[in-house]
Amino acid sequence: MYDTIIIGGGPGGYLAAERLGHQKKKVLLVESVHLGGTCLNVGCIPTKTLLNSAKHYVHAKEAGKFGVNVKDLSFDWEKIQSWKTKVVETLRSGVSQQMKRFKVDVREGRAEILSTLSGTKAGTVRVHLNTGLVEEHEYSTLLISTGSLPVLPPIPGARDNPLVVDSTGLLSIASVPKRLAVIGGGVIGVEFAGLFSALGSEVTVIEMMDEIIPFMDKEQAPLFRKALKGVNFKLGCKVEKIEGAAVHYTTKSGSAEKTESDLVLMAVGRRPVLTGWGAEAAGVGLTNKGVTVDDRMRTNIPGIWAAGDVTGRSLLAHSAYRMAEVAVADILHKLDGEDALQNTMRYDAVPWAVYGMTEAAGVGITEQAADSAGIHILKASVPMSFSGRFIAENTLQGIGSLKVIADAASRRILGIHAVGAYSSEFIWGGAALIEQEFRIEDVKQLIVPHPTVCELIRDAVWEL
Ligand SMILES: Cc1cc2nc3c(=O)[nH]c(=O)nc-3n(C[C@H](O)[C@H](O)[C@H](O)COP(=O)(O)OP(=O)(O)OC[C@H]3O[C@@H](n4cnc5c(N)ncnc54)[C@H](O)[C@@H]3O)c2cc1C
Repeated sequence: MYDTIIIGGGPGGYLAAERLGHQKKKVLLVESVHLGGTCLNVGCIPTKTLLNSAKHYVHAKEAGKFGVNVKDLSFDWEKIQSWKTKVVETLRSGVSQQMKRFKVDVREGRAEILSTLSGTKAGTVRVHLNTGLVEEHEYSTLLISTGSLPVLPPIPGARDNPLVVDSTGLLSIASVPKRLAVIGGGVIGVEFAGLFSALGSEVTVIEMMDEIIPFMDKEQAPLFRKALKGVNFKLGCKVEKIEGAAVHYTTKSGSAEKTESDLVLMAVGRRPVLTGWGAEAAGVGLTNKGVTVDDRMRTNIPGIWAAGDVTGRSLLAHSAYRMAEVAVADILHKLDGEDALQNTMRYDAVPWAVYGMTEAAGVGITEQAADSAGIHILKASVPMSFSGRFIAENTLQGIGSLKVIADAASRRILGIHAVGAYSSEFIWGGAALIEQEFRIEDVKQLIVPHPTVCELIRDAVWEL
C-alpha cells in the first residue's frame, strides 16, 4: 500500500512526490503523458527557450548600436526547435532522476479513483498503463494534480481548422508564419505575439477586453503594449468567426472588420482537467472553475487533496509548487500526526511574470484593485531609465517603469508592478516584502546591489 498516490506529474504532482519522498514516504506518481506536465513540456520551459533564441536574434540585430558588428544575420527555425527539444528533454530527465533519488514509483498511464477511504479501509486507484495493462493500488492519502488544458471557444470556424492552433500546436510549427493572428491578449497570447513579432511575423492580437493582461496595473499595461514594438493590438474587439486563417471581429464601435493571417493562435484561457480521474464516482466537490479546496488544499473527501491548475485558483507553475507543499504538510500531518497546521495557502503575494524582449511582472494589489476595495493608498512610479544598468544594457526595451503601492495608514507595501528587463527575476523580492508585511521604512533600510534594475524598488519607495 502507498502512503500517497499522486495523479498528474506536472509541477504540482512531481514537487509533492519529491517532498514526500524526502520524508521517506512510499509514493506512487502516475502521469499519462510526460513527467513535468504542461509547464516543462508545452508551457513555461519551451516558450522561454524559444523566446531566448528570439532575444539572441534581436540583440544581434541591434548589436551595431553597442559597437558590435554582425554580418549576414539570420535564424534557423529548425535549429531553434532542436534546441527547445533538447532543453525540454534535459529537464524531463532531471525530474525523472529526482523521482529515482527520492524512491518514488512512477507509472506512465491514466489513473482514476476506484474507491475512497472508508473507516480503516484504504482507498484504491486504477492505473490504465500506456502499455495497455491495468494495475490497481491502495493508498492512505491521494493528491489530485491533473492540471489544465487549453479552452477552444465555440467560435464558428475554429474547430477542426488546421490553420487554428492552440499554444501546444504553435510550439512545434514547421516554419515561422508570415502573418500570425492571436485571439486573446492574456499572458500566453502576448508571449507568443512577442516571440513571433521578434522573428519577423506580422502579428495582430485581438482581445475582447479594453486592455491586455487583465490583472496588470492599468497604468502599466499600455506601456507594456508600447514596448511590444511591432505587435498590432485590436482591443475591445469580439471575434465572430474564422474563415481559413482570416479572423472576423466586431470592434468596440460596432463595425465589422477582419484580420487576414496565415495562422491563428487560440489563446483564450485554460480549463482544469476534471474528467478521466474518477472525480464524480469519488464524490470530489467541483465547480466549473476547478476542484474545490480549503486553504490546506483539502478536498471535501477525507484523504484526498488537490494542488495546481486543477483547483482553478492560480494557474501558474509556482502556485502549483506552493499548493503542493501546503498539501504535503497536511498529508504528513495525517500520516504522522506532525504539527503541520500552520502551513496554509495564501494568494495575496503570488507574483506573476510575462516574458519576452521586454518583461512585465507584478505582485500584490494594483491601484485599481485598491480603489475598488476602498483602500487608501500611497503610490509612486519611477521610469526604468532611472536605472544605470537598464540604460547600459537595453536595446529594444527602451521603455518601462516600476510602481510601488503602500497602505496609507499602516505604510505596509501592498503591491509592486514592473515593466522592463529583469522584472521576472526580481519580482520575488516584492513578494517577500508583501508576505513579510514590510513597511515603507523597512524597505528604505535594505541594501540592494548597484547597478541593478531592482534598485528601482528602493527608489520608488523613497518617492513615497
Ligand atoms: C504556453 C504556456 C506557457 C506557460 N508559461 C508559464 C510561465 O512562464 N510561468 C508559470 O508559472 N506558468 C506558466 N504556464 C502555466 C503552467 O504551465 C501551469 O500553471 C503548470 O503547469 C500547472 O502545473 P500542474 O501540476 O497543476 O498541472 P500540469 O502541468 O498541467 O500537469 C498535470 C499533469 O497531469 C497529467 N494528467 C491529467 N490527468 C491525468 C490522469 N487521469 N492520470 C495521470 N495523469 C494525468 C497531465 O498529463 C499533465 O502532465 C504556462 C502554460 C502554458 C500553456
